[in-house]
Amino acid sequence: MTTAAGRFAPSPSGALHVGNLRTALLAWLFARTTGRAFRIRMEDLDRTALGADAQQLADLATLGIEWDEPVIHQTDRLDVYRSVIAELTAAGETFECFCTRREILEAPSAPHSPDGAYPGTCRTLTAARRAEKIAAGRPPAIRLRTAVDEFTVIDTQLGEYTGMVDDFVICRGDGTPAYNLAVVVDDAAQGVDQVVRGDDLLSSAPRQAYLATRLGYHRPGYSHVPMVLGDKGVRLSKRDGAVTLGDLAAAGVSTPIVLSRIAESLDLAEHGEIVDAATLATRFDPAALPRDPWIVTPDIWG
Ligand code: GLU
Repeated sequence: MTTAAGRFAPSPSGALHVGNLRTALLAWLFARTTGRAFRIRMEDLDRTALGADAQQLADLATLGIEWDEPVIHQTDRLDVYRSVIAELTAAGETFECFCTRREILEAPSAPHSPDGAYPGTCRTLTAARRAEKIAAGRPPAIRLRTAVDEFTVIDTQLGEYTGMVDDFVICRGDGTPAYNLAVVVDDAAQGVDQVVRGDDLLSSAPRQAYLATRLGYHRPGYSHVPMVLGDKGVRLSKRDGAVTLGDLAAAGVSTPIVLSRIAESLDLAEHGEIVDAATLATRFDPAALPRDPWIVTPDIWG
């Protein structure tokens, strides 16, 4: 998989809602209009729903979003993540962390470290203290021993963004590789050099770009796109009612109308214009994309 690629990396915890579908469409448009492959990765290390991955692929296909095989599942790649974690550990670049979430929140933060940063409690644990903690039966998480406090990424939509890089978790206490590690390893393995995703993940980009650099990978370019919000101005979710293709179809809103509304929200179609994904690709201009969130309320479908 050496071709330059873009990607969509959903968590298969249920059907995709129109916000996820809009992000997927954007990722596809960015990739296909720049001659890239488009890859899909199921981020299934956390909660998943049976059959959600197949449903998500079917919904993407219905919208005319096609992808390059194979679709990968993170749960099939645990050995790969573990070997990267082992390599970093062998090189002395990690440490075990026994802190609970609460201890981290309550610890006085280290001087100069930003709010919410890991306070460094376990970074310099003595062998004796470590042995005590292990004897107490608390399974450690593994954190990356970082050499910087912040890192800068360039985002095509948002410009230069500098964000915090603390000693972040790369393997959770239960032995599951952490999201920030898996994303970086997979993007490199899938030849992804273009990351398009919701701007709720912007603050993760510096950690991920830093880790990519530490691992000797090429850093991808980033395009964080505006979120889709529900009625109350908070991130769209199932609680906002009919927001998946299946729910909308059941309510009489056909898939072409859904695609039309998504395209309209991106200034790529007129209201009510029926368009296919290939036509949207001919109109796509990243510089002209709206910068504000798209607000999805039940009345937009009428
Ligand atoms: N799996 C993440 C999500 O569904 C996306 C991760 C990414 O695009 O880097 O929110």
